Amino acid sequence: MQETTEILHSILSDPLTGALSTPIYQTSTFVQDAPGVNKGFDYSRSNNPTRQVLEETIAKLENGAGGFAFASGLAAVDAVIKLCQSGDEIVAVDDIYGGTFRSFEKLYKKFGITVHYTDTTDPENIIDNITPNTKLIWLETPTNPTLKITDIATISKIAKANNCLVVVDNTFASPILQKPLDLGADIVLHSATKYIAGHSDVIAGLIAVKTKALAEEIKFIQNATGSILGPWDSWLTIRGIQTLGLRVEKQCRNAEIIAEYLANKTELQIVNYPGLKQHPNHALASRQQKYFGAVVSFTFKEDTLEKATDFVTNTNLFKLAESLGGVKSLCCHPATMTHKGTPDKTRRAAGINDSLVRLSVGTEDPSDLVQDLEEAFEKIKSIQKTAVLAS
Ligand SMILES: *Cc1c(COP(=O)(O)O)cnc(C)c1O
Repeated sequence: MQETTEILHSILSDPLTGALSTPIYQTSTFVQDAPGVNKGFDYSRSNNPTRQVLEETIAKLENGAGGFAFASGLAAVDAVIKLCQSGDEIVAVDDIYGGTFRSFEKLYKKFGITVHYTDTTDPENIIDNITPNTKLIWLETPTNPTLKITDIATISKIAKANNCLVVVDNTFASPILQKPLDLGADIVLHSATKYIAGHSDVIAGLIAVKTKALAEEIKFIQNATGSILGPWDSWLTIRGIQTLGLRVEKQCRNAEIIAEYLANKTELQIVNYPGLKQHPNHALASRQQKYFGAVVSFTFKEDTLEKATDFVTNTNLFKLAESLGGVKSLCCHPATMTHKGTPDKTRRAAGINDSLVRLSVGTEDPSDLVQDLEEAFEKIKSIQKTAVLAS
C-alpha cells in the first residue's frame, strides 16, 4: 500500500461508535469495574484513547516499536535526554536547534551530562568525539537554517560499534522524506508543531523508537514527568497528519521552484537548498531523502542586517514569523530572530550570516510565491536608491 493511503487508513474509526473521525476523549479519569480492572485506561496522564491513536500513528509512520506524544517538541527532546544519567556524554550536531542546545547547556550540564558539538556531515568527526561514556549521538538533518545533510546510516553503524544510541530530530524532513529508524537510528523525534500538524495551530512533540525496551523507557519517563499532549491537541495533530503526504510533497515541489529562481538572482551570495546541484551534500540528500525539503535559505552579496530585514518586511505572502512547516509560507531573519541568543562569532561560523533569510515554503501556487519574492527584491532596490539620494 502507498504511504498516503496507509496514513489515512492506519487511523482507525472509533471502536466504540464507529465514528470516522477520532473522538476527543476529554476526560482525566476512567470508571473502573473493580480496583485495577478497567478497559485499558485508568488516568489520562498514563494513557488516553485520543492520544493513543496519535502515538500508534507516529509509530507506524516511522516504523517504530512504540510512539509517544508530548506537550511540545522540546518536551520530547527533554524525555530523550532523560535516558542519560550523570557522567554520560552526548555527541551532537554543531548547528543543533537552539532550544535543544539551551536544554543541554543550561539545564543538564549541571546534572553532569556533557555534550560535544561537531560537524556531523563528516562521520570522522563523530568517531573523534566518542568516548567510553558516550550514550547518545544526536543528529538533525537537514539542519536549521543552512540545511546541512548528515549520513544517518553511516553514523548508525559507527554508533552500534561503540554501544551508543542514535537520536534523529526529524522535524525538518518529516517521515515523508526520510525514516531514520529504517536507516539504523534508535530514536526519532519531531516538533509536530511544524510539518506533522502542518497548520500553525498547535504545539506538539512526538517520539518513535526502534525497540520495545526503549519504548518502555520512554513510556516510563513520559508518565513519570507528565509532559503529555492533551486530547484536543492530539486530535488537531491527528487531523493534520492525515494530509502530511499531500502537503509535504507540494511544499517540496514549490521549494524546488523557488530555489531555482533564487539561484539565478545576481544580488545573492549563497542559496542553501539540498536539491541544488551546487549544495555540498546534494548527492547524499538525493540518496537519503525522498524530496529535498521545503525550507530554503539565502544570503545577499551585500551582507548586512538591513538588507535582510528590509527584505523580510517587504514580502506579502511570505509572512514574517518564527516557526516553519505550515501550509502558509513564512520568512524569518535568523540573526535577529531564531538565533538572536547565539554569539555573533559562533553564528557566523555556522554560516548564519547577517543577511541570511530563511523561507518556509507553503502550499500556495508557486507562481504567486515567486512573484511575491520578485516584488520584495524590487522594493528593496528602490529603498536603497532612495537612501542613496537622501545621503
Ligand atoms: C521547533 C523545533 C523544535 C522544538 O519544538 P517545539 O514544538 O517548538 O517545542 C525542536 N527541534 C527542531 C528542529 C525544531 O525546528
